[in-house]
Amino acid sequence: MGPVLAAGHVNCDVIVRVDRLPEPDAESAIRSFDRSCGGSAANVAVSLSRLSVPAGIVGSVGTDEAGARAAATLEREGVSTAGLREAPEGPTAVKHVLVDDRGEVALLGTDGVNEAIEPGDVDPERVRRAGHVHLTSQRPATAARIARVASEAGVGVSFDPGRRVGERTYDGVFAHVDTVFATAREAESLPEDGDYALVVTDGADGAELRTAEGRRHHPGFAVDTVDTTGAGDAFAAGFLAATLEGACEKRALAYGNACGAMATTSEGAQTGPDRARLERFLDARN
Ligand code: ADP
Repeated sequence: MGPVLAAGHVNCDVIVRVDRLPEPDAESAIRSFDRSCGGSAANVAVSLSRLSVPAGIVGSVGTDEAGARAAATLEREGVSTAGLREAPEGPTAVKHVLVDDRGEVALLGTDGVNEAIEPGDVDPERVRRAGHVHLTSQRPATAARIARVASEAGVGVSFDPGRRVGERTYDGVFAHVDTVFATAREAESLPEDGDYALVVTDGADGAELRTAEGRRHHPGFAVDTVDTTGAGDAFAAGFLAATLEGACEKRALAYGNACGAMATTSEGAQTGPDRARLERFLDARN
């Protein structure tokens, strides 16, 4: 099987730990300040690679130090960067991730050159050779092209449109996807007549798979959460890794929830477990 391509954002994150998320006319105290890498597509690709699923990225970074760091991180994690475009027209996207003492998250971001990839920049041969394509929030026309090329070649397509789903039109993507990942809030903005399996994640309460055959819920795993950034991306990677190996729905949900839960137990967006840790975690809870 060819690599799983994760297409979308590649960011540099600045993780700001605060006592509480800021409110108007109030002051929050900064506890710590760290830099790490993020962006939904990069997070999924890294998580997949740690689970021994060959992964590649389709995305863009600037020609700056932040972009070089993001690319180096992907390469160190074994993710192919052949589809990572260096875009000279602007800076790498930076997200300031505010994390409070309960692990709740709020974001302040710049988009940088995250959406510099246009439909014509996508190499259709790489998409056709992929084992699967996972799309995250990105320029809708680019996502639609990747989805169409993949589905015409019989390559599976999943999509996690992310927080901004209500602000963008992804009709050209939804027409080709087989699996969509969304939080309950995001799911409210999805088209109603979608012909795909929908996985609705629900934080500490696990996730529910909704298909034409019915609904299957998995309650998730209780862990000591410190930072929920990237939990949904780790979930998607775990769910996809299991599904691509032919696992049943129940096991795919368990893998997703375990990866999501484990990702919340340390700081940063790319904290999904490797295969051995994941298996130990699941064995200990069975
Ligand atoms: P997102 O990270 O995209 O906002 P969720 O908050 O729904 O999405 O989290 C995705 C998945 O990560 C959940 O379905 C669950 O498996 C896991 N997860 C998230 N938060 C927790 C938590 N506090 N405890 C255990 N698992 C969690």
